[in-house]
Amino acid sequence: MLSGHASGRTGFLLVRRKLVERLRAQGISDPRVLAAFEDIPRHSLIPEVLWGQAYKDTALPIGDGQTISAPGVVARMTAALELEGPEKILEIGTGSGYQAAILSRLVARIISIERIPDLAHAARASLGRLGAQNVELFVGDGSGGRPEDAPYDGIVVTAGGPELPRPLLGQLALGGRLVGPFGPRGAQQLIRVRRVGETQFTQETLGPCDFVDLIGQNGWPA
Ligand code: SAM
Repeated sequence: MLSGHASGRTGFLLVRRKLVERLRAQGISDPRVLAAFEDIPRHSLIPEVLWGQAYKDTALPIGDGQTISAPGVVARMTAALELEGPEKILEIGTGSGYQAAILSRLVARIISIERIPDLAHAARASLGRLGAQNVELFVGDGSGGRPEDAPYDGIVVTAGGPELPRPLLGQLALGGRLVGPFGPRGAQQLIRVRRVGETQFTQETLGPCDFVDLIGQNGWPA
């Protein structure tokens, strides 16, 4: 049974604290990341009919066949970006705005791209209500990144592509990290790529995952 009754920031605070304990138990240890998950009211980013499930560790539908990612996945990806505060981050796949809202508490500037206009408009309104003024939202195919605002200290791809979109690599700053799900449908792996030199990159596999499709020029065909 959920406690808390307000629809705003204080609503469901106790349930959010329990979510933070679960994230800690899953190995998320950065106190800034955990504080962001306590602060951001996930329920305010999804349809009210789903509020009872808002703090379960599961993806939920947000319309247009898309989902808000599970908090555990968002936490894993956020932690993998290794954020300290002054970073500029590119997010591909705004969706509900949850990942962007979490990032808004952790870095200086977020540029987020969503291909479905209705979702982008809803996310813009939600992020406005949460006071996430450091998020800039664009509508379009983000699978090739956004070269005009590059380089980025971090890039987070929140939809699954058949393979890592090559144009994104050149938009990473030296030392920058890219985190995202890639591979065949049903067998995606969460990948972290680090730019260690002008043309040198290292790649780690962080484990299996299951995301909706990255659709676009450098993703799956529509
Ligand atoms: N980050 C989101 C959140 O916190 O709610 C979860 C996003 S959902 C799993 C993936 C999103 O990526 C969907 O909203 C989908 O429309 C979007 N998407 C898919 N392909 C895209 C592309 N090429 N450019 C931008 N957005 C894309």
